[in-house]
Amino acid sequence: MRSHYCGELNASNISQEITLCGWVHRRRDHGGVIFLDVRDREGITQVVFDPDRADSFALADSVRNEYVVQLKGLVRARPEGTVNPNMNTGEIEVLGTELQILNAAQTPPFQLDDHQNVGEDVRLKNRFIDLRRPEIQQKMRFRSKVTSLLRRYLDDNGFWDTETPILTRATPEGARDYLVPSRTQQGSFFALPQSPQLFKQLLMVSGFDRYYQIAKCFRDEDLRADRQPEFTQVDIETSFMSEEQIIAMTEEMIVSVFKELLNIDLGSFPRMPYSEAMESYGSDKPDLRIPLTLVTVSDLMQGVDFKVFSGPAKDPKGRVAALKVPGGNSLTRKQIDDYTKFVGIYGAKGLAYIKVNDKSNLEEGLQSPIVKFLPVDVREALLTRLDAQDGDLIFFGADSEKVVNEALGALRCKLGEDMDLYTCEWAPLWVVDFPMFEETSDGGITAIHHPFTAPSCSPEELKASPLTALSQAYDMVLNGTELGGGSIRIHESSMQETVFELLNISAEEQEEKFGFLLDALKFGAPPHGGLAFGLDRLVMLMTDSLSIRDVIAFPKTQSATCLLTQAPGEVSDKQLKELSIRVRKPVVE
Ligand code: ASP
Repeated sequence: MRSHYCGELNASNISQEITLCGWVHRRRDHGGVIFLDVRDREGITQVVFDPDRADSFALADSVRNEYVVQLKGLVRARPEGTVNPNMNTGEIEVLGTELQILNAAQTPPFQLDDHQNVGEDVRLKNRFIDLRRPEIQQKMRFRSKVTSLLRRYLDDNGFWDTETPILTRATPEGARDYLVPSRTQQGSFFALPQSPQLFKQLLMVSGFDRYYQIAKCFRDEDLRADRQPEFTQVDIETSFMSEEQIIAMTEEMIVSVFKELLNIDLGSFPRMPYSEAMESYGSDKPDLRIPLTLVTVSDLMQGVDFKVFSGPAKDPKGRVAALKVPGGNSLTRKQIDDYTKFVGIYGAKGLAYIKVNDKSNLEEGLQSPIVKFLPVDVREALLTRLDAQDGDLIFFGADSEKVVNEALGALRCKLGEDMDLYTCEWAPLWVVDFPMFEETSDGGITAIHHPFTAPSCSPEELKASPLTALSQAYDMVLNGTELGGGSIRIHESSMQETVFELLNISAEEQEEKFGFLLDALKFGAPPHGGLAFGLDRLVMLMTDSLSIRDVIAFPKTQSATCLLTQAPGEVSDKQLKELSIRVRKPVVE
């Protein structure tokens, strides 16, 4: 129906007869001449209708925004002084000769140019219109280029694109399952996959050697800004490759995508052990663009007469850490109060600080509500350890290790953003040597990655000291965001059983939930490992989007609903009956 896309026309098309199809972006009546800006996914072209072609002129006069039209016309240079250098098509216009309305449109709930002035809920409810916005279309096009390049890389490296089931059993990745009731086996449920983890491992047992899938994953968890209940992973698994080789290959893949699409050279990624990430950055996904680090000062604070510090300093699970902000002396009382509230979100009960006005004067030169509690020798040791200079501000976190890491880790990122401390645009790294397990609040243990991750030690060593054992897991982190994570897997059933036992999964439960995996590991499972990248997050970072919803065609809200289709919705009694399900209405308080 068209000869060209609207956005494709330029001076080289002058004098050509063309046919365009698209949406009326804007209609203007300029003293007897009608201008239509006609839009398609490639851009916008200005079309002029003169009154001397009465039919098309009358039609052009009648169209409204978002009407769908087809038109014929002649491309000509724009008159001098009307060239628009901000538009790809700004040098030309089309003199319209024929116009056909293919479909009318009601007045849209918001004008595309005016989307900032409506709430996101209005845009999500009318997503089919929102997705017409050129910025969002560019992001979706970019996403498609990313997947296409990733596929090409993986195809070229011998990976087989293999689909795995959506209706399946639980695949534990630490979230709740989305369940689907079975009609044919009433009372039984499928779980939607939290990831294809177990299937990809089985494919390795089957000798596929290299697998990938751009896979939908489903996790029912409390949503944060950069999470969606269903999201997309670039899921990868390989056999007979070492951790080193998997890291090298997938790093090369990500580097090549950045190079090709953004012309950015990410260089070679540094590696950081998990312990260092937590110690210096309070996070297992440190944002290395920010030059601030956490420094432990527990040893200095053990003897001070200030319980807020000495308590956590003496507690083996506590930590006292300092965060030096060079030049932070200029922060106002109000700013410090706001940061105190901010760390409260992470459980910190306060935010002690010292302003270093004159480091040569340890009696008078330090300004702080708490400095009186610190003997002069402690003040001196502190300034030396932090290499503090006049004009610096030192924040403190003193609590359980977890609270200090989370609070100061988040404060570090917030200060980086607020004070624009970034030293570079892109800071990738691999975090390695994760512990196998961590303690839960009820004193049990849980896998840090998932229970199929191989430890770096023997089953005996693991049993003897589960909380200090390291795993062969690795995460790729970019600008403080976890882009991907994976591990070498357990490929021997005895080791897998040991891990299940440590996780307090009984033999019956192991058999019931993971019998097929344990069986497969007994029938010649090769050493294998892999990882998965979060595609949505990758595209979000690459397009510099503020929200993950900007790079997903039909996203859900933070309360896991789809405003467009109104899913989840109620179902008919008949359907429930077929499934043998009776719904207990939630009690409204
Ligand atoms: N299945 C893991 C995840 O979803 C990734 C992996 O270990 O390959 O995080």
